[in-house]
Amino acid sequence: MSFSNCSLPVLGFAAFSGTGKTTLLEQLIPLLVESGIRIAMVKHAHHDFDVDKPGKDSFRLRKAGAEQMLISSRRRHALMTETADGEYSLNQLLNRLDQTRADLVLVEGFKHERFPKIELHRETLGKPWLFPDDSNIVAVACDSQPATALPRLDINNITAIRDFILRWMEGHKAQTATCDSLSPTMLSVDAGREKILTALNEPTAKAWLPLEALHGQVLAEDVVAPVNVPSSTNSAMDGYAIRSDDIGRDRYRIVGEVFAGHHYRETLNQGECVRIMTGAPVPQDADTVIMREQATVDGDLVRFDTSKGAVRAGQNVRQAGEDLKYGATVFSAGSRMNAASVGMMASLGMDKACCFKPIKVALFSTGDEVQAPGTEAKENCIYDANRFTLRSLLEQLGCEVLDLGIIEDSEQSLTDTLTNAMENADMVMSSGGVSVGDADYIKTVLANLGDINFWRVNMRPGRPLAFGKLGDTPFFGLPGNPVAVMVTFLQFVEPAIRKMQGDKFWQPQRISAITQEKIRSRLGRTEYTRGIYSIGANGQLEVRSTGSQGSGILRSMYEANCLIEVSPEVENAETGDRVTIIPLASRL
Ligand code: AMP
Ligand code: MG
Repeated sequence: MSFSNCSLPVLGFAAFSGTGKTTLLEQLIPLLVESGIRIAMVKHAHHDFDVDKPGKDSFRLRKAGAEQMLISSRRRHALMTETADGEYSLNQLLNRLDQTRADLVLVEGFKHERFPKIELHRETLGKPWLFPDDSNIVAVACDSQPATALPRLDINNITAIRDFILRWMEGHKAQTATCDSLSPTMLSVDAGREKILTALNEPTAKAWLPLEALHGQVLAEDVVAPVNVPSSTNSAMDGYAIRSDDIGRDRYRIVGEVFAGHHYRETLNQGECVRIMTGAPVPQDADTVIMREQATVDGDLVRFDTSKGAVRAGQNVRQAGEDLKYGATVFSAGSRMNAASVGMMASLGMDKACCFKPIKVALFSTGDEVQAPGTEAKENCIYDANRFTLRSLLEQLGCEVLDLGIIEDSEQSLTDTLTNAMENADMVMSSGGVSVGDADYIKTVLANLGDINFWRVNMRPGRPLAFGKLGDTPFFGLPGNPVAVMVTFLQFVEPAIRKMQGDKFWQPQRISAITQEKIRSRLGRTEYTRGIYSIGANGQLEVRSTGSQGSGILRSMYEANCLIEVSPEVENAETGDRVTIIPLASRL
């Protein structure tokens, strides 16, 4: 939710037309200005809007072909730019503002862009709420009592809206503080993810992978159907094939029989039928199949009982190419293969596909206290859970894992391990050792070998995270706590890996549910509570927490089927509030 072109806070107003957005802003801006805030506004308009007037000099010069028209007087100036190449994104537009002359950017419109917004809602208009489907909404200003944990403001109390914005700006300042002002850096979840994604490249290396290895891999090229599926028009039932121009006859002569994998070679004439099995090709000129259950056979004659419904032309027949048509694009480059798509590839007769080369991730654990499972328990030690959690998460994503074990606590062995890892893997990942107070030799070694940032992310569980490059190889230093490891992986590492894999169509699923209990959360921090969601009696999604939320309690992750995400703008979510949940199915 941050813009690479803008370090100022950017806040939008989302509402249906008729809510009185502009009137509200007209009242709000003077209050903000009074509080010493300099405002820049970005407003979306209809595609053929023009601030210029026909006949004015500036208008004539534009019509003459000036793509940019900068007009100035002692009081103001305006730049009009023709955007023949299509509408600018909000990020591009922010670049056009003089950011040194503003403290806050207010935005009207751009409802499909992801950035913080206040929803405006008036009950009398009878419009639906936007916040259940837009997780970018940080507060609602309204004249009713919606069920949500979001801060609720009175839409008619402009001073209260101003006060909220001033508080929100303080939070924004704390979250986006840069490396220079805080060390180690405190980052919001979104800002951290943006930084990581920006630093990573999309893949170029391709590999032809056999059918058996396709599951979980990402296609580098489109797959085009080399044949029709099904290859021929065939019967969907065991029964009798007839011609549709011959429906309604009292009885038919059985002239042959055709099983799946075989073919009836003769042309079918009027008055004739062929006994046919499911999947068998329909004889030439036949196009309709009557179920066996309706048939009464008498020697080589058959009658059909149509008392339960007339025979329809074309019934019980699957057309050639009905599933997949010859020459059609079946899967686009950038899609990830799953059980269904692997089966479809096979049904097309293809035994390999051009994929992006699978990613290899080198993995190790650090920490004096960490010992390998299967070894005799030592005093004051814990078994290494993280390496096995991470290994499973990586394999789930189709990565190859290079397991480097537990690193012995010495500068030399860590240096050797990392040197080997950065040369032999596409990504290196460790757990433990990145918190403040952890042995400094890890940081020293990382600093010697690459360019690694130590962040504190404004989240719980999580917080410490190291990210950077060892040479050209991305490195993630994850926290030590087992739950923090998993949540950090889901929020940062999975999106990173998917980008490196060329996965184009993935979006983490986020849906809303009504919480059945109070979810505790601290203002100014993103909290992930392990939750269990289900469909309630009224058909609505409901969610509750798994209970104890300590970041060492790995069982909470096992019991959860979702993470409940409470954003920094929200303090606690109360029973009955609508909250955002991130389902975990297929991700762990
Ligand atoms: P750290 O971030 O290294 O300070 O670790 C935080 C907590 O996570 C400590 O209680 C560690 O014992 C625990 N921890 C660190 N590494 C592992 C691991 N590989 N498996 C399980 N727990 C770990
Ligand atoms: Mg430690």
